[in-house]
Amino acid sequence: MSGIVQGVGFRPFVYRLACRFGLRGWVSNTVHGVKIEVVGKNGALDRFAESLRSEAPPMAEIVSVRRRKIKPALYETFEIRSSISRTGRTTLISPDAAVCEDCLAEMRDPANRRYRYPFINCTNCGPRYTIILDVPYDRANTTMASFSMCPECRAEFENPLDRRFHAQPNACPVCGPRVWLTDNRGRQVTEKGDPVSRAGRLILEGAVVAVKGLGGFHLAVDATNEEAVARLRQRKIRQDKPFAVMFPDPGSVRACCRVSTAARKYLTGPGRPIVLLPRKRRGLRLAWSVAPCQDTYGIMLPYTPLHYLLLEAASGRPLVMTSGNSSDEPIEIDNRDALKRLSHLADYFLLHDRPIFMRADDSVVQPVRGGIFPLRRSRGYAPRPIRLHKELPPVLAVGGYLKNTICLIRGRDAFLSQHVGDLDRTDTYRFFVLTVEQLKKLFEVVPDRVACDLHPDYLSTRWALSESGLPAVGVQHHHAHIVACMAEHGLSGKLLGLAMDGTGYGLDGNTWGGEFLAADEAGFKRVGHLPYVPLPGGDAAIRETWRTARSVFSAALGVDRLEGLGLGLWDRIGRGKVEAIDRMIQGRINCPLSSGCGRLFDAVAALVDLRTEVLYEGQAAIELESLAARADPGKTPVYSFESKEDVDCLVPDLGPMFGAIAHDVAAGLEASLIARGFHDCLIRMMAALSVRLCDSESLDRVVLSGGVFNNRYISEKLSVILHRAGLRVYAHRLVPPGDGGISLGQAVVAAQVKLE
Ligand code: ZN
Ligand code: ZN
Ligand code: FE
Repeated sequence: MSGIVQGVGFRPFVYRLACRFGLRGWVSNTVHGVKIEVVGKNGALDRFAESLRSEAPPMAEIVSVRRRKIKPALYETFEIRSSISRTGRTTLISPDAAVCEDCLAEMRDPANRRYRYPFINCTNCGPRYTIILDVPYDRANTTMASFSMCPECRAEFENPLDRRFHAQPNACPVCGPRVWLTDNRGRQVTEKGDPVSRAGRLILEGAVVAVKGLGGFHLAVDATNEEAVARLRQRKIRQDKPFAVMFPDPGSVRACCRVSTAARKYLTGPGRPIVLLPRKRRGLRLAWSVAPCQDTYGIMLPYTPLHYLLLEAASGRPLVMTSGNSSDEPIEIDNRDALKRLSHLADYFLLHDRPIFMRADDSVVQPVRGGIFPLRRSRGYAPRPIRLHKELPPVLAVGGYLKNTICLIRGRDAFLSQHVGDLDRTDTYRFFVLTVEQLKKLFEVVPDRVACDLHPDYLSTRWALSESGLPAVGVQHHHAHIVACMAEHGLSGKLLGLAMDGTGYGLDGNTWGGEFLAADEAGFKRVGHLPYVPLPGGDAAIRETWRTARSVFSAALGVDRLEGLGLGLWDRIGRGKVEAIDRMIQGRINCPLSSGCGRLFDAVAALVDLRTEVLYEGQAAIELESLAARADPGKTPVYSFESKEDVDCLVPDLGPMFGAIAHDVAAGLEASLIARGFHDCLIRMMAALSVRLCDSESLDRVVLSGGVFNNRYISEKLSVILHRAGLRVYAHRLVPPGDGGISLGQAVVAAQVKLE
């Protein structure tokens, strides 16, 4: 039996089952997973086999079970045998898991020796990936190595019937880690008394408290206190990016958000991601500054015992729990570093002495019709593998630039790392290198090649080319997107891929990002794309979205007619600036061409005056989606596009849509209606082109990938339309549609290459 079956209480579980069904024999860990030999009545054996799957421990993940008849041996009892050999290359490593109900009950029991102990855990819960330094997964190879178990903990650890049997992070107040509270200069503020209660009270008084968690630090503040949240936002220089909020329990979340059954499942599951939930119109209002200009909140439930204690101490108030980092640096994990680098952000520090080895940010998931997809796959999910449909050579893929992750293939498993971050800082780069080394070590893989983006300036590409010492295979960005989605669905063969995102290195020297690719795992043909838009100033236009708006709308109408509409926008930006941009566009000076779908959102968001500048990647698109959600569908204008009869490569003409949008803006039509009409037109255009291209290329499967499909409205609606047109549609469910997923696609593409 293989899968995540080690270090998750699997053998004691098997032992108990065997006892229940009156079976004799043994269970043992092997290099291939877990091996069981049992003797007993046929019916009992069947029920035993059935229960192995249906009742498996929460953290276990069974990938395959092979059953074989043996000659009945003479066993007197059932026993847990010591491992047949050292853990080898087929073992998997469990992600960190939220504290379980049994442990919580003990933590709340005044008679229990772990009453209110913030590090209570068992074989079914607690830290894993973030504390593991090396394999095999033994305590000596974790950050718990420096704590030696007291006799009581040791007895639990060694008793096969105890629920802490071989729970490597097992600990108690006598022998385990402890927690303390300091001010922002590192001076301890509670000599006596309970530091967690004190921290909770300080939060209620409006303080920002840095809290050391599982995969890194959080900055915690009362989510109902506008003044405190605004202060944190100001200190973090993160003017608009939404903050995640931790609620004490699922019931309290309902006061503020609508929670579907699927959403609830993820909210309360052992991965405990941040779940994006729609706000209730007349529900509990959190402080405005928690998530300005959004119609959702990012909500999570407590996942460590410390979180539960802290939320209790804060009287059950929802708390902002945002990553403890300054602006875009990696999340802090070390006490001393945190005190140094977060002291301008936090007033107090709730610290502990169980070191975090691997940082892991909170995961973020978006519920959609029929499931979820991750926006960020990190703590609680990594390094659980994506199962491939066939065995591939050992490839390392180093991802892109934004939201970087890396991927390592071993046989049929693709190990995707936690979120590394935007690779533009030395800190993030160092973390990237550490993650590469760590994945290779934990999964004992020696890659024979490295896959990277084609962009020569990405730090990941440079590392692949000059530091990795491996033959490098460059993979086109949007091809990687499509193949990532194929890989998670086990697809092969030629299909139509829609890769809609912001930016990716194109093969024609332009920036791509609105691509229709006839693709398989080995290659692709660009059969269509969104029209090229000149971006005045390149990256500057990505930040100052009004530049792209000027470019897009003057192309659709001509500068004179655009001016004739008398929009106030251009005056607010400044005549001088606008004219300079016009000259750049006319003279094609520093105006790289982009087919990025995200740029169209930028243009519309700027023209309706929602956002003329963005502070983070994808901001305009996210806010435009929120705006569109508020529109009355009955009043939404219907915009149109034209598809050109170009044979080789389909490029739609979006001019009619942009012309009509400009007129509607000038006529004062409500911005939400314009935003909705724009979404609908894009969807119709993508659907029409897909149907036509599938027809001409004789394809019947469509794969949707790229950051634009983080937009739930587009991904759901487009899927429905394509499905009705008789096509099979595949969207991401396991890895992010955005650049956090491309390392998986890179790895699979590079694996197809024959090395000399
Ligand atoms: Zn537990
Ligand atoms: Zn102990
Ligand atoms: Fe992308």
